[in-house]
Amino acid sequence: MNPITHGLLGWTVAQAGDLSRRERAMVTLAAVAPDLDGMGILLDFAAGRHPSVGAYGAYHHVIAHNLAAGCVLALLAFALARRRWVCAGLTFLSFHLHLLGDLVGSAGPGGSLWSLTYLYPFSPHRFVWEGQWELNALPNVLVTVVLLAVCIAIAVRRGRTPLEMLSPRADAAVVSALRARLP
Ligand SMILES: [Zn+2]
Repeated sequence: MNPITHGLLGWTVAQAGDLSRRERAMVTLAAVAPDLDGMGILLDFAAGRHPSVGAYGAYHHVIAHNLAAGCVLALLAFALARRRWVCAGLTFLSFHLHLLGDLVGSAGPGGSLWSLTYLYPFSPHRFVWEGQWELNALPNVLVTVVLLAVCIAIAVRRGRTPLEMLSPRADAAVVSALRARLP
């Protein structure tokens, strides 16, 4: 799935439990953090390599898409949060929903299936779901639309949007605009 869908899902998970703004940000970031392993593409460009044979091809969807990375993020959340257990648990869940989203809906054009090296670096075993749909397929669009609707409902009822992670002022402006237009 694309990073926006992952982020919206993480934001929705972050509403469970009575978390602070900073803790909600940790849970939300855990939902997009796995795709940071695609940053190797910058090294490939710097080195003049084609990404498919460089760091991007070797590590994207591998080094941060596994159980060990999820544990590291949960431990970080545990160390930094006020509500340690709740925040670490939701961070772990948010991270795994990213993996699940990729596993069910990240097939490439032409139907090439994406595989999950969940036990990396301890095992190279690749988990694949044969029913996987393509990245731009209808189920991914529907999931994104539903999550957007959920985020709007959260904005109206709880008075916050994902913008609170960047700018509380912009967040408040969006919330008041939505509340003025929606029941
Ligand atoms: Zn991913």
